[in-house]
Amino acid sequence: MEDLREKYEVVIGLEVHAQLKTKSKIFAPDSTEFGNEQNSQISPITLGMPGVLPVLNKEVVNMGILTGLALNCEIPERCKFDRKQYFYPDLPKGYQISQYDEPICINGHIDVKGKRIGITRAHLEEDAGKLVHAGAAGIAGSAYSLVDLNRAGTPLLEIVSEPDMRSSEEAKNYMEELRNIVRYIGVCDGNLEEGSMRCDANISIMPKGSDKFGTRAEIKNVNSFRALQRAIEYEIDRQIDLVENGEEVIQETRLWDDASGETRSMRGKEDAHDYRYFPEPDLMPLEISREWVNEIKAKMPELPSQRRERYQGLGLSEYDAAVVVEIPALSYFFDDVLKLGANPKTAINFIMGEVAAYLKEEKLEIGDTKLTPVGLAELIGLIEKNVISNNIGKQIIIEMLKDGTKPSEIVEKKGLSQITDTGAIEELVKKVLENNPEQLAAYKNGKVQLFGFFVGQVMKETKGRANPKVVNDLLKKLLG
Ligand code: ADP
Ligand code: MG
Repeated sequence: MEDLREKYEVVIGLEVHAQLKTKSKIFAPDSTEFGNEQNSQISPITLGMPGVLPVLNKEVVNMGILTGLALNCEIPERCKFDRKQYFYPDLPKGYQISQYDEPICINGHIDVKGKRIGITRAHLEEDAGKLVHAGAAGIAGSAYSLVDLNRAGTPLLEIVSEPDMRSSEEAKNYMEELRNIVRYIGVCDGNLEEGSMRCDANISIMPKGSDKFGTRAEIKNVNSFRALQRAIEYEIDRQIDLVENGEEVIQETRLWDDASGETRSMRGKEDAHDYRYFPEPDLMPLEISREWVNEIKAKMPELPSQRRERYQGLGLSEYDAAVVVEIPALSYFFDDVLKLGANPKTAINFIMGEVAAYLKEEKLEIGDTKLTPVGLAELIGLIEKNVISNNIGKQIIIEMLKDGTKPSEIVEKKGLSQITDTGAIEELVKKVLENNPEQLAAYKNGKVQLFGFFVGQVMKETKGRANPKVVNDLLKKLLG
């Protein structure tokens, strides 16, 4: 496939559904809380009973505007809601209230790793319920299905990108940055595995150099970043294969099967007119005043791109800044450590090094551990004041993560403070040289790389407690 790939250009556009973190549903007072008993959050509005009327949740609009602003969108002065006709057992009304030709956000973009990705629109809509396929598996897979409508009516913001991405990696980067943004502005958990953020990937190919896009296939059911990349890669090969064999790509919706690593045809893709959209008669068009928009703009939290820039300004590498920003809890923790005046580079080395490794190993989040920003700042202070070495610091932090003991107490209890007494270290250095006559002779004969060996021996004698600079200086002096 590799050489065939050279012949084609890949075009990708993503539709991302972000579940907005409001307490109640978009048009009903039911709670949006997850994990409660089935069908316990279903008012007559959620059930789509005749005669009930939807009432728009203002917080949903606030979050929609906030997200639009974070995505550099225009917020038109007027938007409206439309009915999109579907039949699904988990959509009792027989239609979904969505926004069609007048969405809440239009014409935005975000910059992702140096590339600008356009955002066509973002619109508000309601989620459907859930089908639970159950019973003894027959030919179709299950004997019967149950419906849980707790999720029906949960607010979603669908963010539609321009077809601006040209590789699976660009698509993944875009999706990651979107997730960062919705998390930092507090509108969505951004959890792909749990479905609070869902993505449909539209993919097409065209001969390199062409400016006429090919027919797209839409891939659903990708619920991790890895799945997104794998599904796109699979789809590119599938489409190239078709075209190379003289066949055509058809416009359709395909499902990604993570276990088999394939996409499968699910249904022919509807065109917009198939949904018979019409303006929702039960909701007034929404006027969004500029004062309202400005009020929200004034409260915009720091965005991930601004965070990365701030961290790089403190001397962090581009890589470190990007990685810490990917995990909001770590980024907030880092900020708290900075507020206590700790050295940013030392702090990030601990956070990205020992702390991150520990969290990964134990499958924990920083908030699940006993480490506090005050504790880490104190530890860094001990290193800077030469009370302990950096290496001892790395041992201590593990204890701090586990039981929250103050670093100064650990140092005292275990006698870990650094030996800076030059006289004492000089004695040790002399002893090491005496005990290793062969190495000493070799060093004197020009094998200078043995310097590190002597340093190591002294550190070993002191269990890592000797001040490395003093050891180096003394060795240089004594070795001549
Ligand atoms: P629908 O709801 O019918 O899928 P949308 O307009 O909501 O339509 O979304 C279309 C998505 O498909 C957008 O993200 C757009 O960028 C993308 N897209 C459109 N044409 C192509 C194409 N030829 N190849 C890849 N992606 C495309
Ligand atoms: Mg679509």
